[in-house]
Amino acid sequence: METLRLKGIPVRDAVFSELKNRMKTAPRRPGLAVLLVGDDAASAVYVSHKEKGCDEVGFHHVTHRLPATTSQDDVLALIDELNNDEAIDGILVQLPLPKGMDQDKVLLSVSPEKDVDGFHPVNLGRLVAGNPGFVPCTPKGILRMLSHYGISMSGKSVAVVGRSVIVGRPLSLLLSLKSEEGNATVTMCHSGTRDLAAVTKAADVVVAAIGVPRMIGPEGVGEGAVVVDVGINRIDAPERKSGTRLVGDVDFEALVGHASAMTPVPGGVGPMTIAMLLENTWEAMCRAENFDGGV
Ligand code: NDP
Repeated sequence: METLRLKGIPVRDAVFSELKNRMKTAPRRPGLAVLLVGDDAASAVYVSHKEKGCDEVGFHHVTHRLPATTSQDDVLALIDELNNDEAIDGILVQLPLPKGMDQDKVLLSVSPEKDVDGFHPVNLGRLVAGNPGFVPCTPKGILRMLSHYGISMSGKSVAVVGRSVIVGRPLSLLLSLKSEEGNATVTMCHSGTRDLAAVTKAADVVVAAIGVPRMIGPEGVGEGAVVVDVGINRIDAPERKSGTRLVGDVDFEALVGHASAMTPVPGGVGPMTIAMLLENTWEAMCRAENFDGGV
C-alpha cells in the first residue's frame, strides 16, 4: 500500500499566504505578545519560530523574555498590562512555566478575548459546549491539515492517544463535535487504557500525542489507517553531526506501506501549530476592530 505523506509545510504556507492577502485590507496590523519565562531551550526555539511566522505575515509582535527567578506577581502584572494594550490582540504564555509558578492562575489571568492559545477555561468551556471560541492551535491545525488533504473524519472511528489539555483532550472534543471537520466517533486513550494496541488497531484514524519516541508501530495500527503523529522527541543520533535528531511518537519507517496516510516528524503537525496561532491572532484583531475579515 502506498502511504501518503501528510506534509504540514504546504498547508502552513497556504494559511500564511491567505493571511498576507487579508492583511492588504486590514484596519491595522494584528499584534502578538509572547511571554517566555526561564531558559528552557526547546521553548526558546518554539518562540523564535513564532516570531519568524509573525514577521513573514507582517504581524506586530513583542517577546518578553523573563528570567526564571521572575515572581509570579510580576508575570501577572505584565499580563494585566498586555490585556489593556490596544496594540496587542493575542497573548501567548509559553509553557512550561518555571517550577513553583501556578500555571492555571497565570493562564486564567489572560483575557479570554486575547487567549489565542485557547487554554483559558472560558475558551475550553466553549469548546465543551460545542460553541468554540479560540481553539488550541495544535488540534485546530490537525483538523485543518486533514481537511486540506481531503481526509474526512465524519463517521470515522478515531483513537486519540494522550489526554493533555494542550492536545489530546481538545482534539478529542473537536473531532466529536457535529461539525464539518469533526463528526467522528472518538476514543481518548491514556496511560490507564487497557490493551492500548487493540484499541488503536481497531480505529480508522490514530492520533499519537504521547511524548514517547516511536511508541506506536504496526501492532497498534490497522492496515490502511490514517496516522497523525503529534510527538516531538529528541533522541540520540550518533551518526549525525549534532548527535541528536527529532522523532515522533510513531514508528514512521515501520508504518510506511501499512498506513494509508501519515504525518512526518518533523514537517507534519508542527508547522500547522504556528499557522493556527497566527490565524487566531488575526481573528482576535478582527473581533477587537469589529472588522469583517475573520477566517
Ligand atoms: P503530556 O505529557 O501533557 O501528555 C501525554 C499524554 O500521553 C498523557 O495523557 C499520558 O497519559 C499519555 N501517555 C503517556 N505515556 C503513555 C503510554 N505509555 N500509554 C498511553 N498513554 C500514555 O504531553 P503533550 O500532550 O503536551 O505532548 C505530547 C507530545 O506532543 C509531546 O511529544 C510534545 O512534544 C508534542 N507536542 C507537539 C506539538 C506540535 O506542535 N507538534 C504541540 C504540543 C505538543 P496520562 O494522562 O495517563 O498521564
